[in-house]
Amino acid sequence: MHATDHLKEAERLMTVCNSCRYCEGLCAMFPAMELRRSFADADLNYLANLCHGCGACYVDCQFSPPHEFNVNVPQVLAKVRTGSYKSYAWPKAFQPMFDRNGLAIAIVAAISVAAFILGFTLWHGAEVLSTDSGQFYQLMPHNTMALLFGGVALYALFAMAMGFATFWKEIGANSVHAASGGSLWQATKDAAGLRYLDGGGVGCYNEDEKPTDNRRLFHHLTFYGFMLCFAATTTGTLYHYLLDWPAPYAWNELPKLFGIPGGIGLVIGPIGLMHAKLKRIPDMTDPAKFGMETAFLAMMFATGLTGLVLMVARETPAMGVTLAVHLGVVFALFLTMPYGKFVHGFYRFGALALYAAERKAEQPATVAG
Ligand code: SF4
Ligand code: SF4
Repeated sequence: MHATDHLKEAERLMTVCNSCRYCEGLCAMFPAMELRRSFADADLNYLANLCHGCGACYVDCQFSPPHEFNVNVPQVLAKVRTGSYKSYAWPKAFQPMFDRNGLAIAIVAAISVAAFILGFTLWHGAEVLSTDSGQFYQLMPHNTMALLFGGVALYALFAMAMGFATFWKEIGANSVHAASGGSLWQATKDAAGLRYLDGGGVGCYNEDEKPTDNRRLFHHLTFYGFMLCFAATTTGTLYHYLLDWPAPYAWNELPKLFGIPGGIGLVIGPIGLMHAKLKRIPDMTDPAKFGMETAFLAMMFATGLTGLVLMVARETPAMGVTLAVHLGVVFALFLTMPYGKFVHGFYRFGALALYAAERKAEQPATVAG
């Protein structure tokens, strides 16, 4: 018995694919599947998170629709992946947020926090909103900012770690010593290069049967853009606390050198991914995932855009409003992170680490009973 109809359908497909094995060279999912003779829910969640949705097995399959076998691996595994994010989310009471896709919650949170900061400022010292000094901490003291944003970021990290721990345990990762350094390093390389988004070497299938590398490019811009923005915030915090060197920083200081390309990546990457999503052959996508992915891309885009606008406007009278809006967006991003598409990076990394370990051990993991 499977928990959902999508898991039941995934088991049927894995049984067909395990007899056929035509696609075994396309990605990690097929070799991982071939190690198994039966498919518990945790096995299917693991396999679904190994799939990068490149579409190659759909285009190559002689049994894909309209064939009566109706084999559609990318779409079914996308549905199982969406289900896995929800079923492992922590705390359980918040799992329904995946169904509501979080965009409305993120917008309300962003507007509320921005309005709160602006209201607080108007009450305590309205003149800050019309100066062009570029002094961020006149709007909100650094320690208050660190407490507020550190708190919500720690919550997001803790919630995502709890969800990931359940996933890791249930897919049986510890049974094949997946935590070994070699497997983690292999997974890091595979995830960092999006190795399995290449359709077996030719590229990813999106709007037609001509493979391209566009999705990988835009994903890289989004991912590395986010990491650079994270590095900008981290170096800014270290400068503040370790060197007693508060913001704002000059264009040639590390927080800016990380933040500017990071912000540009976060603007261009999500636009490209959204365009690819709208053009994608509907047969290969999970319609229910559309809202969740749109919310994720919208939040990434808003974070990058408001950050860049703030950099440009920081020494103008618009600084106060742009800072409040940017802080509101960042707060909302952290708050909704554990309940949207952001978590896919963790589960994908975990699945890749287990796959690397299984390859070494040449045996499948033992899933939790
Ligand atoms: S997707 Fe189709 S061609 Fe590929 S292994 Fe499965 S059944 Fe065979
Ligand atoms: S869609 Fe691509 S990544 Fe997913 S199972 Fe098929 S070939 Fe592998």
